[in-house]
Amino acid sequence: MTLILGIESTAHTFGVGIASEDGILVNINDTYTPPQGVGIHPRVAADHHVAVGPRLLSEALRRLGIGIRDVDAVAFSMGPGLGPALRVGATLARAIAIKFGKPLVPVHHGIAHVEVARWSVRFRDPLVLLVSGGHTMVIAHSGRTYGGVFGETIDMAIGNALDYFARSIGLPNPGVPHLEECAEKGSRYIPLPYTVKGGQDVSFSGLVEEALRLVRKGVALPDVCLSLVETAYSMLGEVVERGGLALTGKKELLLAGGVARSRRLRSVMEWIANEFNAKLGIVPPEYAGGDNGGMIALTGLLAYKGGITIDPTEAVTKQRWRLDEVETPWFGNEPWFNKQPQNTSSERINEEKIKESNF
Ligand code: AMP
Ligand code: MG
Repeated sequence: MTLILGIESTAHTFGVGIASEDGILVNINDTYTPPQGVGIHPRVAADHHVAVGPRLLSEALRRLGIGIRDVDAVAFSMGPGLGPALRVGATLARAIAIKFGKPLVPVHHGIAHVEVARWSVRFRDPLVLLVSGGHTMVIAHSGRTYGGVFGETIDMAIGNALDYFARSIGLPNPGVPHLEECAEKGSRYIPLPYTVKGGQDVSFSGLVEEALRLVRKGVALPDVCLSLVETAYSMLGEVVERGGLALTGKKELLLAGGVARSRRLRSVMEWIANEFNAKLGIVPPEYAGGDNGGMIALTGLLAYKGGITIDPTEAVTKQRWRLDEVETPWFGNEPWFNKQPQNTSSERINEEKIKESNF
């Protein structure tokens, strides 16, 4: 059995997880909540991570009754995220790797959201709607990466956009559920800028600004909340429908990321999945909400078994890092699908033989 320690620190959450071929074994997280009306200040988030990090690490190991020497490798969120926050997790991971001679495994935070969702519902090759504070993408695996990008935001991520609106009208953190609560009290839909470019990419900044303008004009808040939420989720629905399911014919639709907890978004996606006879899989709240060390450990396990490690001297965090650039050699070989490794190796030998004979 392979044991991977995973460390998450891209934004508000410091998390430690431990995973094996059986999946996530331990998942402990501590989230920094900014005061009402304030966004996450990267340096303050980093201070939080420094303060809670060591306690979370020893607690994670204690829960499994192991020591740090028992883990096979250390995985960490290398990006994308807030620079100062990212560096706390990366520094801790590099220090452990160097001091205890453990391989270091870089993990892309967005891919980890996808992989933990895929593992949770045991989907092999879904169309994915990734909706979180930092990501809004409709993707599928293609070739060696999640490079089938059917749509994405060209400005703010959905979580970030809705949180910004919620904060601006005085709702507490986290913004999206409070905004949806407000929307449930609304009764009138007011048309707002609906921006889907080329049936693929979405843009939220004009939508949020117009919603704020209506609030300043004195339009009833619940009606603005309702119109904002419905417009934003319909835009995502269109991309999933047209750009994704219609084009790919995929029969699995996977909802990943923190905003996957949204009840309203789930019902929109349920409706769409039904229309296309596709199965809808939703990441469970414990791994959706929000960021967590478990998903980094799990993706670290996949990456490590796929041969991905990095030298600690080269493990520089990436504040910007596109998800579709990351190679995913583990795809299709996830241990939880009970593939027989013998078959894989004999296939490879055959391939080599074919190549030789062609010579
Ligand atoms: P993440 O970046 O994955 O941690 O997701 C953060 C986003 O999830 C923020 O925009 C939150 O407002 C949103 N969020 C938190 N709780 C919920 C919830 N219960 N329903 C919908 N969205 C939520
Ligand atoms: Mg996230």
